[in-house]
Amino acid sequence: MSHPVYKNLVGGEWVPAAQGRTILNLNPADHGDVIGAFPASVAADVDAAVAAARRAFASWRLVPAPKRAEILLRTGTLLQERKEKYAREMTREMGKVLAETRGDVQEAIDEAFYVAGEGRRLYGVTTPSELEKKFAMSVRMPVGVVGLITPWNFPMAIPSWKLFPALVAGNTCVIKPAEDTPLSTYNLVETLIDAGLPPGVVNIVSGEGPEAGAPLVEHAHVRAISFTGSSEVGSLVAQRAAATFKQVSLEMGGKNAMIVLDDANLDLALDGALWGAFGTTGQRCTATSRILLQKRIAGEFTEKLVARAKKLRVGNGLDESVEVGPQINKQQIDTSTKYADIAQREGATLLCGGHALCAGEYATGTFFEPTVFAGVKPAMRIAREEVFGPVVSLLEFDSFEEAIAIANSIDYGLSTALYTRDVNRAFTAMRDLEAGITYINAPTIGAEVHLPFGGVKQTGNGHREGLGAIEFFTTWKAVYVDYSDKLQRAQIDNAE
Ligand code: NAD
Repeated sequence: MSHPVYKNLVGGEWVPAAQGRTILNLNPADHGDVIGAFPASVAADVDAAVAAARRAFASWRLVPAPKRAEILLRTGTLLQERKEKYAREMTREMGKVLAETRGDVQEAIDEAFYVAGEGRRLYGVTTPSELEKKFAMSVRMPVGVVGLITPWNFPMAIPSWKLFPALVAGNTCVIKPAEDTPLSTYNLVETLIDAGLPPGVVNIVSGEGPEAGAPLVEHAHVRAISFTGSSEVGSLVAQRAAATFKQVSLEMGGKNAMIVLDDANLDLALDGALWGAFGTTGQRCTATSRILLQKRIAGEFTEKLVARAKKLRVGNGLDESVEVGPQINKQQIDTSTKYADIAQREGATLLCGGHALCAGEYATGTFFEPTVFAGVKPAMRIAREEVFGPVVSLLEFDSFEEAIAIANSIDYGLSTALYTRDVNRAFTAMRDLEAGITYINAPTIGAEVHLPFGGVKQTGNGHREGLGAIEFFTTWKAVYVDYSDKLQRAQIDNAE
C-alpha cells in the first residue's frame, strides 16, 4: 500500500533530505500500518535549515511580541478544531490511547493560549541609576536561532512547550522531532503556518539523533538548544554544545516515587498508582515507577493493585475500550524485558506481567504486559534505573522519614507523590522530597502548562519549561540612557 512521503521544511519550502533517504514511521500497534516516510536528514539539511532560520530572524525579531502572540492565539483555536484528527494520527504513530492523545493535543492548545498571553508580558525591570539624569532599565531580547530536539512520548505537547515560548520571544527555530513520531510535529507546525507564521520562522529537519540532532547541537549559528530526552543523550548534547558556548536546557529521565502512608485513602492511592504506572504504557518521564508502601497497608494495597493491573486491557489505542497501548518500538520492549530479568535476578518477586505480548492481536505490534514487582530493595537496579515501560516496583518502609530517604536515594529528581491525610507530613514532604514536582494525594503525573516543569539532579540542568521557558528563550540587555549632556562616570563621579 502506498504511504505519504514527507519532506523537511526549510525557509517555507518542503524539500527532500540532501541524501534522499527516508525513515518509515510505523504504527506501534500494527506494523503493517505505515504512517509515512520521513526524511533521514544529515548535516547539510541542518545547515540549510539554520541558514533559513537566520534569514527569518532578521524580520521576526522586529515583529511586536503582541503580534507574534496573536499567531499563537490563532494556532490554539485551530488546534481545537483539529484536535480529534491530530489525536487519532498521534495514536497511530505513538500508540497511546485516544483519551491520552486528545490530552496531548489539549496540552498544546493550553500552551498556545498561555504563551499567547506572554506576548503582552515580556517584562523587563527598571531601577534607579546611581547617577543623576541617567535612566536604567533592562529588556528581554530573543536569543536568535534556537535548536529544539524532542522525544516521542509527547509528540505534540513537548514540541509546543518549546516552539511557542521560543516564538513569542522572537526567536526562530529549527526543530528535530523524534524519529518515531515526527507526524505530530508536522501537524503542529502546519497549524502555526495556517495561523499566519511567516516562512523560515520554524524549520523542520527530520531524522535520527546522531545524523540530524548532533549537527544542530554543534552548529555555530544556533544560539541555544532545548532538549528533552534521556539523560544519556542529554549528557552528550551538553558536552557537544559546550564547544560553541550555547545555552542548553535539558529535560531528562525520572524514577518517580509515590509514597503511600498508612493513613491514606487507599482506594484513591490505588487509582493513582494504576494511572501513574500504566498510563502512557509507563512511557512518561513522570511515570510512577516506584511505589513506597508503609508496612501496615502494604499487603492489602499490593493485592488490590495486582488484581487491577491484571485486568487492564492492553491493545491498539484506537480502540476506545483499550486502557494500555503498545510500547513505542522493539527497543523499548527489549528494555522492559531486560529489566524484568534483572529484577528477578536481583531477588524481586514478579507478581504479574513481565513479558512481551506476541500472540494473536498482539502479533503485529510491540506490546508488554503491565508488570508489578514486590520485595524491591532501594539498592536494586529496578529501583534506581529508568525502565520507560509498564513496569512498577513496590518497596516497603516503616517510618515516614525512611520513605523520604528512599525516595531521595536515586540519581533522578523529576516527580514525586505522597498519599496521606496528615497535613504536617504533607508539608514536610513538600519541603524534603528532592524533585522538581511534588503531588499530594495525586499520582506523579498530571503537570499543567503554566507551572514550572522540570527536575533536579540528573533529570535536568536547572531550567524549566512552562513557567520558566521565557527565561530560557530570552537574554537580558541592560540599557542606560544618560540625559545629563555631560560625561558621567559610574563608580567614580558619584563616589565621595
Ligand atoms: P532519546 O534521548 O533517545 O531521544 C531524544 C531526542 O534526542 C530524539 O529526537 C533523538 O533523535 C535525539 N537524539 C538522539 N541522539 C542524539 C544525539 N547524539 N545528538 C542530538 N540528538 C540526539 O529519548 P527518547 O527515547 O526519545 O525519549 C525517552 C526519554 O525522554 C526518557 O528518558 C524520558 O524520561 C525522557 N523524557 C523526559 C521528559 C522531561 O521533560 N523531563 C519528558 C519526556 C521524556
